[in-house]
Amino acid sequence: MFWESKMTLSSKILLAMVLGVALGAILNTMSAAEGSFIANLTAWLVNSVFDVVGQIFIASLKLLVVPLVFVSLVCGSSAMGANARMGRMAGKTLGLYLLTTAIAISLGLLFANLINPGLGIDMSSTANYTPQPAPALKDVLINIFPTNPVKAMAEGNMLQVIVFAILMGVAVSHSGEKGKEVLRFFESFNEVVMTMVSLLMHLAPYGVFCLLAKLFSELGLSAILDLAKYFFTVALVLLLHGLGVYTTAFKLLTRLSPWVLLKNVRPAILFAFSTSSSSATMPVTMNVAEKRLGIDNAIASFTVPLGATINMDGTAIMQGVATVFIAQAFNIDISLGGYVAVVLTATLASIGTAGVPGVGLITLALVLQQVGLPVEGIALIIGVDRLLDMMRTAVNVTGDCMVSSVVARSEDLLDETIFYEVSDRDEYENLGS
Ligand code: ASP
Repeated sequence: MFWESKMTLSSKILLAMVLGVALGAILNTMSAAEGSFIANLTAWLVNSVFDVVGQIFIASLKLLVVPLVFVSLVCGSSAMGANARMGRMAGKTLGLYLLTTAIAISLGLLFANLINPGLGIDMSSTANYTPQPAPALKDVLINIFPTNPVKAMAEGNMLQVIVFAILMGVAVSHSGEKGKEVLRFFESFNEVVMTMVSLLMHLAPYGVFCLLAKLFSELGLSAILDLAKYFFTVALVLLLHGLGVYTTAFKLLTRLSPWVLLKNVRPAILFAFSTSSSSATMPVTMNVAEKRLGIDNAIASFTVPLGATINMDGTAIMQGVATVFIAQAFNIDISLGGYVAVVLTATLASIGTAGVPGVGLITLALVLQQVGLPVEGIALIIGVDRLLDMMRTAVNVTGDCMVSSVVARSEDLLDETIFYEVSDRDEYENLGS
């Protein structure tokens, strides 16, 4: 049985993904004969088994997000706050996140203009789309600052939790002996939460299998055929950004092997793909950053949660291609100034995109409005968005890991021994022994 074998955790998750997709696709065809015994059985399997296990899996991941971010970042920022490196590190992180996102959207725009995915599209399906309200950029900024930390945690408002944890961590580092006592507690707490993450990762193959089986049993793949040009343009740019831009930037900025980076990040990529949520994947990304990439907690505790919240390169790529696609479908020209506006707005919109499934499509409305395109155009691409969401979330999370490694390396806080060692073994295998 594969779950008892000597396979690494990543290979088990990968196998579970393939099996989940295959079974989902089979169930999809079986459910076609409505009312038949087979169709009823399929519906029961999907709704009462796969959905239940999948939802529980996602809930257990999300459960860890707030405790992990808060506890870990108090430890991290108290280490940083003591020697005033926090500001420099935060500046580098933000700068790199914004820069990579701007590159991502520009690539999206460029390739969409070369491939022209929207030429000759029929817009008749746009009639029944009601646009959802996108958040105003001003509110996105104001909302970073919490008025009540308990409310911020209860609502899972990540940027607010980050701000509170940083303040607390800096205060801990300035509180002498008393501060050290608090820090010792948080450090132990952090270890415990990290162990919870590792334990949960062992259940991932089952969770991932159920999530994908359910998703693919309901996914109408015929939509992809109709929108093949759009779909493959987004997929191509995602690949190019993930494999080309990230690896080149990483090599240039760290002099470490980008292939080892990708190999080590694999568990987080697989989780991101299966859950379509940077936020739910965050505990795994943190684990990967510290245990597989060798990034010190002082860096990872800040860069990873921040990245899961604001760094969405994959989403920006989709928004760039979608903007050109919709403009072409509606026969509207975007001016040069319009393109600059798209780059700026999409970069900001991706900051305001929560790391949960499908939100990138809602913030796309912001970008479309900015250049005067009809928001109803979103209806054209909604049919293939679920699958693209999985792919772009994988890129979003890879970007978080890449930037975190670059920042850690520049601060001399990346352990090269861990970075190169882990790629050859699976440290989750030893868990609990
Ligand atoms: N699902 C994406 C994420 O969590 C956000 C989006 O593009 O919809 O990273």
